[in-house]
Amino acid sequence: MITIKSKREISLMRDSGKVAAAVLEALKRAVEPGITTAELDKMAEKLIRRAGGEPAFLGYQGFPASICTSINSEVVHGIPGLRRLEEGDIISIDLGVVLKGYYSDTAITVAVGRISPAAERLLDVTSKSLEKGIAAMRAGGHLSDISHAVQKYVEANGYSVVYSYAGHGIGTAMHEEPQVPNLGPPGHGPKLQRGMALAIEPMVNLGSAEVVVEDDGWTVRTEDGSLSAHFEHSVALGKDGPIILTAP
Ligand code: MG
Repeated sequence: MITIKSKREISLMRDSGKVAAAVLEALKRAVEPGITTAELDKMAEKLIRRAGGEPAFLGYQGFPASICTSINSEVVHGIPGLRRLEEGDIISIDLGVVLKGYYSDTAITVAVGRISPAAERLLDVTSKSLEKGIAAMRAGGHLSDISHAVQKYVEANGYSVVYSYAGHGIGTAMHEEPQVPNLGPPGHGPKLQRGMALAIEPMVNLGSAEVVVEDDGWTVRTEDGSLSAHFEHSVALGKDGPIILTAP
């Protein structure tokens, strides 16, 4: 069942989303050659707790950290550790916050120092595909309008959308119904209505769409070793259209 959030609940989700956005912004600024992903994770946990929230990912199905850090050909769910970022890397940082019982989930892919023009374009297209998806979230439309908007933009730019993972409803749980795939024909799935809240999260590969899971049981990477990017916002559908709950 898809839960419909009241105005009050959306306002609480926005409070949670503001914390997530501020922490992500701080992490983005901290990204530089030489820093380890474990250091970013520590920073995230400290900042989330200082704001009165809890890291939603920590302990989730046994996940050992507060953020996911996925570098270069890693798509999502990378585990922070002692790996040091290097000039030219790209790193996807995904984080979740729970504040007063309400969840928010957001991700960004960041350049480490100077990156190749190809990597820069991948980041730009993935970020814009998220904007396209959000713009397609309209009352009276259908869920797959979002999926289609993402896919159309990504494929028009020559990249692949990862189909094995999807976005999701969000609210008093991190993962609620419905799933929000990043591809599909428009006009399908549940009708979108005011009060729905979705985490929309395109994962885009420079090469093929195929992904594999590493031996750690978490890290998802591209099968062909090509670069991958990931951008995510938690978005509610309000009276006047989509409200980006995790906007900075
Ligand atoms: Mg998510």
